[in-house]
Amino acid sequence: MSNLLGLEVKKVTETPPEEVERVRNWINSEEYKEKNFARQALVVNPAHACQPLGAQLCAHSFEGTLPFVHGSQGCASYYRSTLNRHFREPAPAVSDAMSEDGAVFGGQNNLHEGLENAVALYKPKMIAVFTSCMPEVIGDDLTAFIKNAKQKSIVPKDLQIPYANTPSFNGTHIHGYDSMLVSILQTLTEGKQVEGRCTGKVNIIPGCDFNTGDYREYKRILKEFGVPYTILADVGDTFDSPCDGTYNIYAGGTKLEDAADSINGKATITLGPYATPKTFNWIKDNYSGKHVSMSMPMGIEKTDAFIMKVAELFGKEVPASLKNERGRAVDAVTDSHQYMHGKKFAVYGDPDYLTGYVSFLLEMGARPHHILCSRGSKKLEKELQTLLDGSMYGKGCKIYMNKDLWHLRSLVMTDRVDAIIGDTHGKFAARDAGIPLFRFGFPVFDRVNKHRYPIIGYQGVVNMVTEICNKFIDIKDETCEDRYFEMMR
Ligand code: SF4
Repeated sequence: MSNLLGLEVKKVTETPPEEVERVRNWINSEEYKEKNFARQALVVNPAHACQPLGAQLCAHSFEGTLPFVHGSQGCASYYRSTLNRHFREPAPAVSDAMSEDGAVFGGQNNLHEGLENAVALYKPKMIAVFTSCMPEVIGDDLTAFIKNAKQKSIVPKDLQIPYANTPSFNGTHIHGYDSMLVSILQTLTEGKQVEGRCTGKVNIIPGCDFNTGDYREYKRILKEFGVPYTILADVGDTFDSPCDGTYNIYAGGTKLEDAADSINGKATITLGPYATPKTFNWIKDNYSGKHVSMSMPMGIEKTDAFIMKVAELFGKEVPASLKNERGRAVDAVTDSHQYMHGKKFAVYGDPDYLTGYVSFLLEMGARPHHILCSRGSKKLEKELQTLLDGSMYGKGCKIYMNKDLWHLRSLVMTDRVDAIIGDTHGKFAARDAGIPLFRFGFPVFDRVNKHRYPIIGYQGVVNMVTEICNKFIDIKDETCEDRYFEMMR
């Protein structure tokens, strides 16, 4: 073997080809799977990102808001590049670039200098501060630091600076999202509750959803109903802004005054119960109107539940346009169910996506054979099990909580399935198993425009059914014998 200079390189340890082959086969065996599942102190390829990444997504969802990372520059680059690669849009955020001296003496100087520069350079309406691991490890006191910044007039006294502690050694991006959202709402709504006032609007909390098409779909459904709304929080336009030759650092986002007034709403619905428990609990104690927590509306049944809830809360009939849409989605399912019926899937992802995938698959007569979550809970496990128990297609399907994608690989290599549903990180396991990966979660780096196609609502059903069934038909066309190669499928 030679290196880039063409010089001969001698390997320190030679591994005979037969040994490579033995290990290659061994990691696909039951014996290896058992060892893999016995692993305790090591995580390999977890299906989640760290807390601040979710906090940054949340910060981008508000008008004129600059996400501000109190912590290391490298961490900030990671969140920015991950969001950037998923949406193929800029994800502008700043960092106060703590380094060795910050780690020793605390990060207050970094934070103050960073805030001063951020205000001067980027003129935000609001700065949303969140932390990376380092300031959390040394115990930086964000409350005091931000108070001091205002007292010393480093930033204008009236500038809103919500902040969230987002320690990454605990939880995932959905927990960071939740902490940032509750902090922003607490900051914006302070003193805004007016006795007897009702905005007449529904506040919709989509949860930590990385699909911009979903935000548009919620808005479209509510427009069909004629129900006024505030999306808490709306990242739909932020990461799907038009390419018109100009650059807007603060594209889209929920208007700050709408978010402030959301405390006087007629009703608040969270559709990301696993991604927003802290926010929703706080809202229950502080917001006017009705409070509803329900699953992400993926699949026919869960979409029906959402539509009926809006109708009930606002005393309205379901509009004919939505009834027709439902009919078309049911037709799409009927026309194509035979391509998914009985097929086995391995699914993984964030809890709110997972309940949606499982519900949708069972409706299609498919089997969510392996269900895996890298940071799950007893509550999630119970909800998934209830879904499985409620369908004949759930029989024999298994749930794996707090397992990673290396576990998933063992599962799909030893107990085969027809396809995987998840994010781009699952492509290695899918390739090894020789099965397709349907990318509906986050992040999706290796396909284009996926985030523009909603997976919620009736339109989401049509999109998912179309993508999955057509792929199975493609496989049939590519692999069948000549005599079975047909025009009709
Ligand atoms: S896990 Fe911690 S160190 Fe790693 S990117 Fe996230 S915040 Fe930074």
